[in-house]
Amino acid sequence: MSSTAPYFLGLETGGTKATAAVLDHEHNQLATREAARPAGATAQDTISQLIELGRAVQTDAGLENPPDAIGWGFGGPVDRQQNKPAYNFHESGWDQLETNPATQLEAALHAPVYVENDCEVAGLAEAHLGAGSTEGLTFYMTLGSGVGGGLIWNGRILASGPLGEGEIGHMKVVAQGAQCACGQLGCLEAYCSGWGVGERAIEAINSTEQPTPLMKVISEAEPRERAKLLFAECQDDLFAQDQAEVFLDHLADACANVGLLLAPKNFVIGGGLSQLPWLVDKLAPRIESRLPELMRGHMDVKVAQLGSVSVPCGAALYASQRVAKR
Ligand SMILES: [Zn+2]
Repeated sequence: MSSTAPYFLGLETGGTKATAAVLDHEHNQLATREAARPAGATAQDTISQLIELGRAVQTDAGLENPPDAIGWGFGGPVDRQQNKPAYNFHESGWDQLETNPATQLEAALHAPVYVENDCEVAGLAEAHLGAGSTEGLTFYMTLGSGVGGGLIWNGRILASGPLGEGEIGHMKVVAQGAQCACGQLGCLEAYCSGWGVGERAIEAINSTEQPTPLMKVISEAEPRERAKLLFAECQDDLFAQDQAEVFLDHLADACANVGLLLAPKNFVIGGGLSQLPWLVDKLAPRIESRLPELMRGHMDVKVAQLGSVSVPCGAALYASQRVAKR
């Protein structure tokens, strides 16, 4: 049955999928929908896909009227002044579009569109609806194919820079270390993202004279599967354990630096690698051990609760806050 009721639409474009969610004014999820991103899609293809997805999820929710507002969580830095995606390290073309993509979405879906970074809106969703809090500071980190972060202060994105903030993935953890997709050396993302874990494992395998059966499996696997295959063997395999130690140490260095700089009450970790069953138990004490004794025990490290809907739900929430402010 179709109806008309006020609602907010949230959209996400990440590395491998596009998602959409409809939230009512009480932040209840009315519908969600996901679509795979076709390989080789251009920025303009992605905008067409978002328009289709937005219309489809609106139909799923049984709604005929346009949303009150639309939020878009973009997988890369955004230009906040111009309200548009700035660039994406893995997908070209976002800085060359003739018409601002937000303007294109507004025309097709008949509502104001607000663009924000995907980690920032995922953090907003976790603060309001998941593992974070709307009181004080929540730091959200995604640990997946990339590593990103967002800061939520008293239930709102703490927007301090024109291109965003909280870029923990590009914090340096190794001086003159491995090459990162951003052009810099030694970034956390080059060691602790899915692809980073895989590349570092391959480096270690290539310097070994007698590869073990697991090393052969990792070498022959698809790059994006390597981290998952490796960490699944941490219980029994020495090589997997060594790689996990390196991963945890770099991650703990970066997280401790965030703790020292910002002292968030909640440190929420989302993304595919946050699902490693041992992650928080092994990471939290390492972070604490890197803090001066007096400063320990004040930051709760937690796994995110909202899973794959955190970005579109957070984007819808962000849109609701932006229109309320107008
Ligand atoms: Zn980087």
